[in-house]
Amino acid sequence: MVHFVGAGSGAPDLITVRGMRLLQEADVVIYAGSLVNPALLEYCKEDTEIHDSARMHLEEVLAVMKRAESEGKTTVRLHTGDPSIYGAIREQMDALRECGIAFDICPGVSSMYAAAAALQVEYTLPEVSQTVIISRAAGRTPVPEKEDLPKLAAIGATLVLFLSAGQTAQVQKALLQGAYTEATPCAIVYKASWPEEKILRGTVGTLPEMAEQNGITQTALIVVGDVLGNDYALSKLYDKHFTTGYRKGE
Ligand code: SAH
Repeated sequence: MVHFVGAGSGAPDLITVRGMRLLQEADVVIYAGSLVNPALLEYCKEDTEIHDSARMHLEEVLAVMKRAESEGKTTVRLHTGDPSIYGAIREQMDALRECGIAFDICPGVSSMYAAAAALQVEYTLPEVSQTVIISRAAGRTPVPEKEDLPKLAAIGATLVLFLSAGQTAQVQKALLQGAYTEATPCAIVYKASWPEEKILRGTVGTLPEMAEQNGITQTALIVVGDVLGNDYALSKLYDKHFTTGYRKGE
C-alpha cells in the first residue's frame, strides 16, 4: 500500500494527525526533499528506509514503490503542502493503478493556507472578493493559453501565485494588464511556517523590488488583491439582524 501524504507547509506540527501516524507506521518513505522539512522524518521508525525524491526521476520513485510493495511493505510518499496542488501525483497514481498497487491520499495544509495565517488575512472578504484564483507564472512548465496571467488578472479576485517568486517583473506586468493597479495590495510570503519565514507587504507597484531587496527567488507565494487592504463589508453570517438555519435575526 502506498499513502500519498501532504506534509503541510513546513512546520512539523502542521502535518495532519493522520499523516503523522502514517509516517510513524511507514516502512519506506519517499519525501520531496527540495521542499519538505526533514524534521518531519523524525516521526518515522528508526529503521524506516528513506529516499529523497529531489534526486530521483519518476521511474526511480516508482521502482522503490514497486519493490516495497513486493516485499509487503507500506510506503509513504510525502509531498509538500497538499499533494493536489502542483504535487505531480497524477502520474504516480496512474502508474500505480496500472500495476495494481493500492494507494490513498492524506491531505495536507497547503502553503497557501500557511501564508494566509502568516499574513493574518481572510482570502474571501464580503464585497471585496469571494473568489480565490490559484495559479503560477509560465516558466519551464507552460501554462495553457486560456489561463494566461493577464486573463486571470482581468477578474481582479484574490490571486495566489505558486512557483513564481523568481519572475516578479513578468508577474507585475501581467497583473497590470488586468484589473489590478500599481496600488493594489500585494504580499510575498517566503517559507511560510518555517523558522526562516519572511512576510513582505507592498503593492503590485513594488512587487519586483520586494523580491529583489530580500533576495527571494523561490519557496515563496505571491498573494495579490484588495483582501490585503482595509476595506470590506461585515459578514452576513454573524450579522445580528440576519436569520440563518441556526439563529433568528433580531
Ligand atoms: N503542494 C504544495 C505546493 C508545491 S509547488 C502546497 O500545497 O503548498 C512548490 C511551490 O509552493 C513553491 O515554489 C512555492 O511557491 C510554494 N511553497 C511551498 N511551500 C511554501 C512555503 N512554506 N511558503 C511559501 N511558499 C511555499
